[in-house]
Amino acid sequence: MWKDDRDEIDDLWCGFLNKSDRYPCKCPICKKRHAHIYVHRYQGKKGTAWMWCSECRHCTHGTMFIPGWWEDDDFIDIYRTASHPDYLETQKIAIDSYVNRVLDNTKNFIKGDVDAGHYNAFIRISKKICKKQG
Ligand SMILES: [Zn+2]
Repeated sequence: MWKDDRDEIDDLWCGFLNKSDRYPCKCPICKKRHAHIYVHRYQGKKGTAWMWCSECRHCTHGTMFIPGWWEDDDFIDIYRTASHPDYLETQKIAIDSYVNRVLDNTKNFIKGDVDAGHYNAFIRISKKICKKQG
């Protein structure tokens, strides 16, 4: 049974935006390294993300402002996803490895790159979302 009643799981989004986490990462709730993220861009900056922990089963899912450096995978069938990450949980090994690869491939993406404006806008928004981390 998935639980979506704890805001702390949203902290996973900050770790993703800051590229400070590699997956599976530490769960903000149970502190075990069983947390995952799956990100999908719909169009432009708009997309969706799931964050969940395989251990304590806390999860969250929502519409997100997707950073410019993110590239969608081609192995997840987005039409099989639902608000709870049952399908994504079955694909977590491939998802973790894909997300880690994108993070590593884009780690040098900094201000001054072609879409710096996009990046700056996303930093402003992510600071708002990530205010708990200061
Ligand atoms: Zn957990």
